[in-house]
Amino acid sequence: MKAVTPQKGNLLCPVCSAENFAELVSFGEQPLSAHLLASPEEQVLLHEGRYVYCRNCRFIRQAEFVPADLQYARYEYFSGDLLPAYAKDLARRICQEVIPVTSGAVIEIGSNDGGFLQLLKDRGISCLLGIEPSEVLASHANSRGLETLTGFFEALPVDQILKERKWNSGLIVARFVLEHVTDLEAFLRKMVSLAHGGTRMLIEVPDVDFILERAIFTGFWDQHANYFNLHTLQRLAAGHGLEIYQYEYDYNRNERILRAWLRLADYPKSFSYPPTPLSALKGFPRAVSQKLGDIRTYCRSKHEEGRRLFLYGASHTPANIVNYSGIGKFLQCALDGDERKAGKYLPGSKLKVVSVNRLADDLPDYCLIAALGSEDRIVSRHADYLRRGGAFVRLFPRIEAVESGSAMTPPVSKPLGLSESRRAGNGPTSGRVIPQR
Ligand SMILES: [Zn+2]
Repeated sequence: MKAVTPQKGNLLCPVCSAENFAELVSFGEQPLSAHLLASPEEQVLLHEGRYVYCRNCRFIRQAEFVPADLQYARYEYFSGDLLPAYAKDLARRICQEVIPVTSGAVIEIGSNDGGFLQLLKDRGISCLLGIEPSEVLASHANSRGLETLTGFFEALPVDQILKERKWNSGLIVARFVLEHVTDLEAFLRKMVSLAHGGTRMLIEVPDVDFILERAIFTGFWDQHANYFNLHTLQRLAAGHGLEIYQYEYDYNRNERILRAWLRLADYPKSFSYPPTPLSALKGFPRAVSQKLGDIRTYCRSKHEEGRRLFLYGASHTPANIVNYSGIGKFLQCALDGDERKAGKYLPGSKLKVVSVNRLADDLPDYCLIAALGSEDRIVSRHADYLRRGGAFVRLFPRIEAVESGSAMTPPVSKPLGLSESRRAGNGPTSGRVIPQR
């Protein structure tokens, strides 16, 4: 075990400049969760799993950042195959509604293997530029004919490249990027430097209010330095002369996604959206500790009855579920559909990853679904396991066994939160921001 040398978070809040952070929740020392171990002896990198909020604006972030080069330079997670269901529709909207207005190039920051750029290209957009820190992913995109610069956005001469091509920036896209950025000030400044009056920006981030409302503790993890809601995103943008002129919420797996459309604005803004209520922040650690305790108790009791428990999933979320709740000792192995992971080990618990076929071969009594948001798909894929007497266990919204013939609770990915949450009185899930001049 080796602790990473953390990149100290700036003491000032990047959203409101106050110097007044308080602890939100702590999971203690945790391994970097996306890296599977080649052997149980492999040294794991540890970071401090502690998260803080700004008492002034309620912005949430990691107490200590993991240096970005440790996380992403060797990143090999291809997201192209895992684009959310709404990505095609989003590409269509960009082509039909945004590009005709801005008539400039699309620059995507954190473009991964080019999956989203490809959707735009398929719709006839030719001026496209990707930016991706991982060499593996960037070269994959380039080999598909999707021009992608390798490196961190803040450090690349993007403006020069646009100038050489005589390209205007029409749309700057940052989907699931801002939550990873450790220097928001530099990132936003760079984004704004590429923009002109007609430029639009599209930002997607996980909505932290959804995580807090449902005690989805896996929403807090080592790769996410920042946690936004509409209030803090709007406030951050305003500090850089940007306004959110439209926003929407969407759902993917176990996340609610906040999608914001931005443009330059040269007048002071008011903050039209309420900050996260203090009660949600105060209640979260209690709710998490309860949930983790429930998961541990459930697994321990099955283990003590002599039942065999498998885990389903071997990505960062399953790794964090096991490590945060300490259930590794009650589990026998972790199943995963990606054959490249078989034979490796989850960081922390060192649970061995095995082929998903082992479910049918070994018939464990229980199989915990830790691939959150994919519960229904997994259960229907392995109906035979249930018929033969096995049981899946889902963890959210409550812990429950799914056996052959049992009725299932609606998945968490459905927008239940809208009627249950404090947004109930706030009308539609999308809207236009009316700036006050
Ligand atoms: Zn603040």
